[in-house]
Amino acid sequence: MAGILYLCATPIGNLEDMTLRALRVLKEVDLIAAEDTRNSIKLLNHFEIHTPMTSYHEHNKFEKGQLLIGQLLDGKNIALVTDAGTPGISDPGEELVRMAHETGITVTALPGACAAVNALVLSGLPTRRFCFEAFLPTDKKERRQVLEELKRETRTIVLYEAPHRLLRTLQELLEEFGNRSLTVVRELTKKHETVFRTTLAKALVHYTENEPKGECVLVLEGIDMEAVREKQQQDWLLVPLEEHMEHYLSQGMPQKDAMKAVAADRGVPKREIYAQLLRESGKS
Ligand code: SAM
Repeated sequence: MAGILYLCATPIGNLEDMTLRALRVLKEVDLIAAEDTRNSIKLLNHFEIHTPMTSYHEHNKFEKGQLLIGQLLDGKNIALVTDAGTPGISDPGEELVRMAHETGITVTALPGACAAVNALVLSGLPTRRFCFEAFLPTDKKERRQVLEELKRETRTIVLYEAPHRLLRTLQELLEEFGNRSLTVVRELTKKHETVFRTTLAKALVHYTENEPKGECVLVLEGIDMEAVREKQQQDWLLVPLEEHMEHYLSQGMPQKDAMKAVAADRGVPKREIYAQLLRESGKS
């Protein structure tokens, strides 16, 4: 019989967040695959867990993954832990889970801490619809592409960021998205946990004056499409009607369609546009 792969969440700061189930499973499995064995040994020592450990990380995930799958097929039960939080969330894990499913190995997840979810619920921003973007790519082109897509995102956006890159990210977000509500959640579950409800512009000023420290999650308001539409309507209403019509007619649009487009831009019924055009041409 093949063994089971257990994805075992570990605390993101506060050791009391270790679950009873995770402790039992970590004691009972044959092997613990850890992202950084030097880091995980501290956790295991604290809880007096003496299960053998091996490393499984970003740079050995393919070769080591094959090896672990072999051991699972031989009937060994394996728990996967990462440095902190839920394996598979911006941590190695995804690849091993994929391999396990492909070989028909049972995978189960032991829930626990996850910085993204913890930050979202603390943020005070809408939680019903959100998207998790993890870390923005460091590659310039990819980063631009992701920011371009996120610009139009209406759901609350959750991002991970390292303190030394926080200022640059805030600056880019402000440039790309304009000012928006933001909650910066730092040091979750730790003694100095802070929930800073602010805006992109204010956060930029704050962290320029106060060096960013500690792990953080950015929770950003999605775009308010209603407000964008209203602003666009206000802008169009400042344009004379004839000029607005010309904008579409010059693109080869038939008169009727142009009136429809103009009405939509200005947020008024088409018949109003028709009546106003008639008045302006002196025919009414
Ligand atoms: N797997 C982890 C999870 O479930 O949250 C995430 C690992 S990812 C490599 C590390 C990032 O998570 C950090 O850069 C930070 O953005 C966020 N993070 C982890 N622990 C945190 C904490 N205690 N407070 C705030 N952010 C944290």
